[in-house]
Amino acid sequence: MKCNDFQHWLLTRDIFTDEENPDVLDHLKGCASCRNLYTIDSKLEETIIRAFHQQEVPKGLPEQIELSLDHVKNPTRLTPHKIVGFAAGIALVVIISMVMFNKPSHYQTLQQLSEKAIVRHLKGDMTLSFGADEIEQAVAMLSQELKFKVILPDLKAQGYVLLGGRCCVLGKCKTAYLFYKKNDKICSLFILDYGHLDFQMAEGSRFSNDTKGCHTDIWKEKGQVYAMVY
Ligand SMILES: [Zn+2]
Repeated sequence: MKCNDFQHWLLTRDIFTDEENPDVLDHLKGCASCRNLYTIDSKLEETIIRAFHQQEVPKGLPEQIELSLDHVKNPTRLTPHKIVGFAAGIALVVIISMVMFNKPSHYQTLQQLSEKAIVRHLKGDMTLSFGADEIEQAVAMLSQELKFKVILPDLKAQGYVLLGGRCCVLGKCKTAYLFYKKNDKICSLFILDYGHLDFQMAEGSRFSNDTKGCHTDIWKEKGQVYAMVY
């Protein structure tokens, strides 16, 4: 197996179904640069799998449901008035759960996108699947993983220094997550496919806001949406 064949295999493999391929293992043993690519790709896959597992149950929802059920289990004396009250309570919990579990996978507004980006930025999890020195290979793998051609914006002139990045799931949308440093501050850049917006955004248009002590800039360029938080 040659490097080209290996890289083709790497970009088209399915981590869930592909079995170990002896040719691949053989090539990995002898080729340090492909071993490096393999490590980046495996780390990207890992972070995306982990991100999906972390789509946790909304806080307090199980307690809310339990509370409502308790009311139903221990009714003191059921009067028509109370029955209506319990029914309304249960209906409310059902509606809340439906809204929380079936959030649209697309963004309705840029405000919504900026809030998601800020929450993720403030979590401060700087797990990197690749470093700045591996960015060229990583971009090809990110594109493969995210199913759109990831293009990094040119931020050097603005003083941003790339540190590295990984994949993440931002509000159910697979997103490239890059870390930059500017004036000793860590900045988060999220790159997503324009298709994740449920509305029209003109090429080159910008949106910014300040919330929770963070500044967010969102812009559209080359058919992708960028959200920078710092
Ligand atoms: Zn090779």
